[in-house]
Amino acid sequence: MAEEELPPGGKVPVFLGLGSNLGDRRGFIEKAASMIAEIDGVEWKGLSGLLETDPVGGPPQGDYLNAAGELSTTLSCRELFGNLQEIELKLGRVRKILNGPRTIDLDILLFGDSVIEEGDLLVPHPRMCERSFVLEPLCEIAPGVVHPCEGKTIAQLLVALRKKETGTASSDDEGGGM
Ligand code: ADP
Ligand code: MG
Repeated sequence: MAEEELPPGGKVPVFLGLGSNLGDRRGFIEKAASMIAEIDGVEWKGLSGLLETDPVGGPPQGDYLNAAGELSTTLSCRELFGNLQEIELKLGRVRKILNGPRTIDLDILLFGDSVIEEGDLLVPHPRMCERSFVLEPLCEIAPGVVHPCEGKTIAQLLVALRKKETGTASSDDEGGGM
């Protein structure tokens, strides 16, 4: 997002996905949230409730706790990403196996209305619309936020995903008033 496009106050609203399936899962998520709140240029808004979910892909591994978090920031998306990767490392994240178990996973889901495609940084997060463990907690804190590529609110995306997953469809649940 260019500087002149910053919203009033100069801060961009950001939504994160947080996940853990090793050790003290709740402790890792809460510690990550408090470390994110300490980043210069970040105003932490809060965490959704924690959701226990089955692992998707990767080797056999324990269940996850997932949450979504909200902050606003004067940092660029790249700067925030660097800070989040540092926090993952400080909390003992080791990338040995693709989709393997992790003490903490911090994903940037939405960075204002920015659409970023830089190889190692893709925003909105490319798999968020297919993952109920992302959309469920995100919908709790940001039901009316619009996905800049899909043009739908998080609530609408969650309704669509549930339909896809259950194979049920009804004409009056489009619109996602949740
Ligand atoms: P996942 O979060 O999909 O389970 P990882 O945490 O192992 O997987 O991340 C894999 C790669 O995803 C990282 O190396 C990172 O560079 C990349 N990535 C791309 N876009 C994002 C984003 N928006 N937020 C976090 N990581 C991202
Ligand atoms: Mg990740």
